[in-house]
Amino acid sequence: MALIVQKYGGTSVGSVERIQAVAARVLKTAKVGNSVVVVVSAMGKSTDELVKLAHTISTNPSRREMDMLLSTGEQVSIALLSMALQELGQPAISLTGAQVGIVTEAEHTRARILHIQTERIERHLRDGKVVVVAGFQGITSIAELEITTLGRGGSDTSAVALAAALRASCCEIYTDVPGILTTDPRLVPDAQLMSEITCDEMLELASLGAKVLHPRAVEIARNYGVPLVVRSSWTDDPGTRVVSPTPRPRSLVDLEIARPVDGVEFDANQARVALLRVPDRPGVAARLFGEIARQDLDVDLIIQSIHEGNTNDIAFTVATPMLKRAEAVAAAIAPVLRSQKEPKLEEAEVMVQQQIAKVSIAGAGMIGRPGVAAQMFATLSAAGMNIQMISTSEVKVSCVIDAADGDRAIDALCQAFEIRGEGRRRASGFSKSGVRGQDNSLSPPASPASPTSPASPASPASPAPPARGVALDLNQARLAIRQVPDRPGMAAKLFGLLAEHNISVDMIIQSQRCRVIDGVPKRDIACTVAQMDAEAARTMLEQAAAELGWGDVVVDSAIAKVSIVGAGMVGQPGVAARMFEALAQQQINIQMIATSEIKISCVVAQEQGVAALQAIHAAFGLAGDQNIQVSA
Ligand code: ADP
Ligand code: ASP
Ligand code: MG
Repeated sequence: MALIVQKYGGTSVGSVERIQAVAARVLKTAKVGNSVVVVVSAMGKSTDELVKLAHTISTNPSRREMDMLLSTGEQVSIALLSMALQELGQPAISLTGAQVGIVTEAEHTRARILHIQTERIERHLRDGKVVVVAGFQGITSIAELEITTLGRGGSDTSAVALAAALRASCCEIYTDVPGILTTDPRLVPDAQLMSEITCDEMLELASLGAKVLHPRAVEIARNYGVPLVVRSSWTDDPGTRVVSPTPRPRSLVDLEIARPVDGVEFDANQARVALLRVPDRPGVAARLFGEIARQDLDVDLIIQSIHEGNTNDIAFTVATPMLKRAEAVAAAIAPVLRSQKEPKLEEAEVMVQQQIAKVSIAGAGMIGRPGVAAQMFATLSAAGMNIQMISTSEVKVSCVIDAADGDRAIDALCQAFEIRGEGRRRASGFSKSGVRGQDNSLSPPASPASPTSPASPASPASPAPPARGVALDLNQARLAIRQVPDRPGMAAKLFGLLAEHNISVDMIIQSQRCRVIDGVPKRDIACTVAQMDAEAARTMLEQAAAELGWGDVVVDSAIAKVSIVGAGMVGQPGVAARMFEALAQQQINIQMIATSEIKISCVVAQEQGVAALQAIHAAFGLAGDQNIQVSA
């Protein structure tokens, strides 16, 4: 007899009929002898309605009272589902997060789970009951007993955490689409269902806007090795498996706050090419990286910074042996980037740095835990190192530093993040095909998953595609911090401040151009944050401006972030070029570019976001021949 955790989302329990259909489904699983724990969301859009209701009373309601209010939605659906099960003759009991003992931090509206008491659930299961648990909510430690919520979309996280705590044989997420698709089928109707995806890829997609899974749910599945599947609530089709590597043993105490970093990596074999003052118009990145791809050169990091006037800077890194050829391409292209209409533009300038090193911390949930990147920057700054480029993602944060500092950087990071032995890894030779932390390849055949050995590449029978999925995030804002002094410690201070207020950042880009103002070299720094955090971030950074020496802080909320994710882009030339070309063909201007090992993100104008998503999805051949049915 297996123990199965099933989670049903809001649409799946959106009406009486749907609740009855869910009950029938749960009954079927229980009838064949399984123990079943069901996690449910609030009915339909009721959480959104509660949020609206709160805002009719207060423009800035207290986070504690929001938790008190929003947690009621799930209490309705657990009771109704239990009644529906009982009507079918199946003994069932509903429990709130507090009644189970889902203990969380005292951080209202975004609490992380500390641990889950399993005794009461286990007792009811032994009595032959189906246990129906309210998703998205928890309770703080015994002294306070405050109701908390885990953040919007958090019922997925409740379900996977329960599966980990109960050592369930699997966690099934039932939703209103057939599984995880190559992108959101509401925006791209020919999006295709995938049968499997690695948890690293899903973590990136989830954090880049694919709301089919909450990123923290994927993180827990990865860390505890919970078999996770996403399926339709309306059919018996198998859906999508999220494949996790074999995890290292982990305690169930501090479930969601235990060590997020499990490796430190180092690649000394990189060089950087920067093109300064390239025109700010559609097609420029496509042209540059198209030519680089034609030369079969694989680039690792790419960044394009916010523009000053009407020009941008683009920088990229390549493996050192490729530098000469990459530089030649950049030098050949620089003079021709100006169009006939722009004779007044200065010619783009090529700048090369021969010996740089990339140091990375690898793990899961790094964007979701802004303190982790901030700690990395602070560690490098305490060792006196200047950070030249930054790349952020859910599974990796990398910093480009001077090659001479490499060994010291790796020592300092291993110490700061308590990494020993196999967690310390040296990527040698070709940059993008550097070592990955854990075996995370898809089956079949399942490669022997050893958490300590370097990853073997995905099996040749099923090579990972360069783009597994595409995501769009329309809820981001761009934060530009002008004239930040160019000296060690500035990134640590800036992002440390944001981390103190729990504000997650992505796409951190420092301009390549350095301007000397009053004798101090200065650069602009830009990043993206969630729109709801943008004003708080601006106020905080403005307050610190005088003390830390930076200039204006500018927020732009009219942006869209469009990203591709795929483990197969590692070591494969031409992937970025294909993405940029797809945007150029639609005359979509790219405002910012940032990459990490398995993702490429571009910021474009908000009104072009959906068109950008559709163009990129088509360019990578991700469309299927059937339109996916989505339910209202
Ligand atoms: P639930 O209420 O079941 O938790 P959500 O609305 O949170 O459902 O998530 C499911 C929705 O996620 C789908 O209806 C779809 O519009 C959206 N979505 C975004 N990206 C993807 C993707 N890559 N694959 C599947 N669905 C996606
Ligand atoms: N009801 C909550 C929300 O709408 C949690 C969830 O559905 O996952 O965000
Ligand atoms: Mg959801």
